[in-house]
Amino acid sequence: MTSPLPSLDSLLREPAATVLTGRFGREATTRALRDLLADRRSARAFHAPAGVLLDEAADRLARAFARSQRPVFNLTGTVLHTNLGRSPMPPEAAAAAAEAMRSATSLEYDLDSGKRGERDSHIAPLLCRLTGAEAATVVNNNAAAVMLVLNSLALGKQVPVSRGELIEIGGAFRVPDIMNRSGALLKEVGTTNRTHPRDYAQAIGPETAALMRVHQANYAIVGFTAAVPTDEMARIAHAANLPLIEDLGSGSLVDLARWGLPHEPTPADALTAGADIVTFSGDKLLGGPQAGLIVGSKALIARINANPLKRALRLDKGRLAALEVVLGLYLDPDRLAERLPALRLLTRAEADIRTTATRMAGLIGRAFPTRTVTVEACSSQIGSGALPVDLLPSAAVTIGGGALENLAATLRGLPRPVIGRIAQDRLWLDFRCLEPAEEAEFSAQLPVPA
Ligand SMILES: *Cc1c(COP(=O)(O)O)cnc(C)c1O
Repeated sequence: MTSPLPSLDSLLREPAATVLTGRFGREATTRALRDLLADRRSARAFHAPAGVLLDEAADRLARAFARSQRPVFNLTGTVLHTNLGRSPMPPEAAAAAAEAMRSATSLEYDLDSGKRGERDSHIAPLLCRLTGAEAATVVNNNAAAVMLVLNSLALGKQVPVSRGELIEIGGAFRVPDIMNRSGALLKEVGTTNRTHPRDYAQAIGPETAALMRVHQANYAIVGFTAAVPTDEMARIAHAANLPLIEDLGSGSLVDLARWGLPHEPTPADALTAGADIVTFSGDKLLGGPQAGLIVGSKALIARINANPLKRALRLDKGRLAALEVVLGLYLDPDRLAERLPALRLLTRAEADIRTTATRMAGLIGRAFPTRTVTVEACSSQIGSGALPVDLLPSAAVTIGGGALENLAATLRGLPRPVIGRIAQDRLWLDFRCLEPAEEAEFSAQLPVPA
């Protein structure tokens, strides 16, 4: 049996339409129903009961109002995955951000004097304490930090950089491009594999504003190589009365070797070796919100803060609140690996991950009874351009049985999408980043086999 298309007015009088207007508003509901009726007419589908049309309108409205950015399960095996938002944040840092965003705060207000205060005052003393720097400031991200530093210290002047460090981080961050846009003039020195102290010394002239060193973030040059270490570059720069800028990228605030992870140079190491300005990211190994941290000498930080571009690149109160909490956790390094999720995930024991993977493998096998499901050893990557050659032993559930793109799409279609990776004719789900507290949410949403 079919029924003719109802009118828009009669649809809007249905109780189900009242539910939709309550949820999505009168305007959106009316428009969805009008569009639906128009689609039916143009498809010459002139018969449909009101209930069917209202169900379809409900689906369309739910899709239109669904949030675009959603939490996902990162089972890619890359812990600090740039496309998946890099570092997860400690709950107390996320809470501080939410609280600051909900209310008025002392962002630029000095509560002691009742006068105007400084946005940086909430984090600069902590950053100085943790890095040994004289002064510190913070901007939107590390790309912004590099750009601001060069624009402040080297506008229209030359900055020699080794050809072995003219890197691309991915996306749109290429060292030569950022330098160009900052207004500094890149002077390439050395060769791809070997750069010597004399290359820098010969490049310095009256037009030179600073020397710059870029951490080899996401690649390694091996074989017949030579690079000039920070302390030697600092000596060359200082002999010519120039500052040394070091872009550390993923700089961790503590020596990760303490937890058995590969050593990454810290900002404190770079400053001790003689760098005058050091830049690094807030959401890579540091484990905080997206931010670009700049530490160094008082005089140079003052010049950076006086640059009008600082205002264009500044951090909002929410991220500043989160960053303050995260930096605070570093004051107690003994408990850092428990309290900082990024470090907790990076240091998670292989046996512990395997326990989770084994538990989940049983449930995944039941959800996909026609597929082969196994638990395998695998290697996680740190990600975010950090330590690319260093892999962390981990455990994965692998799912086989062909049509892997379909399977991957099914997992991405779950209420909290599950993101894995396809390799060797299987879909790999590395369980390093699924902590025991999240297992219930993960398993509850698995499909129920027909
Ligand atoms: C990641 C990285 C950057 C860019 O940092 P963002 O925080 O992503 O803006 C710059 N330089 C190096 C060496 C990096 O590793």
